[in-house]
Amino acid sequence: MEQTLIVLKPDAVLRGLTGELLGRFERAGLKLVAAKMIQVDQELAKKHYPADREEWIKLLGHKTLDNYKELKKDAKKEMGTDDPMKLGQMVRGWLLDYISSGPVFAAVLEGPHAVELVRKITGHTLPFKAEPGTIRGDFSFDSSHLANTAKRAIKNLIHASGNIEEAQYEIPLWFSEEEICKYERANEKAMK
Ligand code: GDP
Ligand code: MG
Repeated sequence: MEQTLIVLKPDAVLRGLTGELLGRFERAGLKLVAAKMIQVDQELAKKHYPADREEWIKLLGHKTLDNYKELKKDAKKEMGTDDPMKLGQMVRGWLLDYISSGPVFAAVLEGPHAVELVRKITGHTLPFKAEPGTIRGDFSFDSSHLANTAKRAIKNLIHASGNIEEAQYEIPLWFSEEEICKYERANEKAMK
């Protein structure tokens, strides 16, 4: 059994997609064990996207560079730098603005292989690459280049913990232990 965090980002809430997106996880058999709507402040945003997670920030920068390469664009010319750390920090700044730009819907989902299953239903980070049938593939089309040119984060509707360690770090940031419910879903018996 694993638990994982999802955050339906402000574009999902503003577009009225909360029920549709949450339903996809419930439909797959994932158990909703905690949920709330919240206006994220800078304090929570900074903890969720921590400045000292250097590896993640560098990776974010590398991914941005790869996206530029694929589009045959010059990152240094367009972003002012091709240093992965600096690019990653730039994207992190946009993420803080994005996640706090409006109300979000946060939830904890539980189930076998929950982390990987939720990522699969969520789809590729870049909406234009996300497969049809995934949340990002079905409801968004944004790209790294569009977002970077507008100096904002890629609007891809949802955050989902990337791995078990990330889930274990993120869940307590958003929910206290008392807010996480324990119950048996009716379909659990059928799956035994
Ligand atoms: P995720 O786990 O699939 O959400 O992807 P990451 O953890 O790598 O990135 C976190 C978030 O940063 C993504 O969901 C996007 O909103 C944003 N993001 C990722 N890569 C880029 C990029 O190249 N440019 C911009 N502007 N935003 C990005
Ligand atoms: Mg991630």
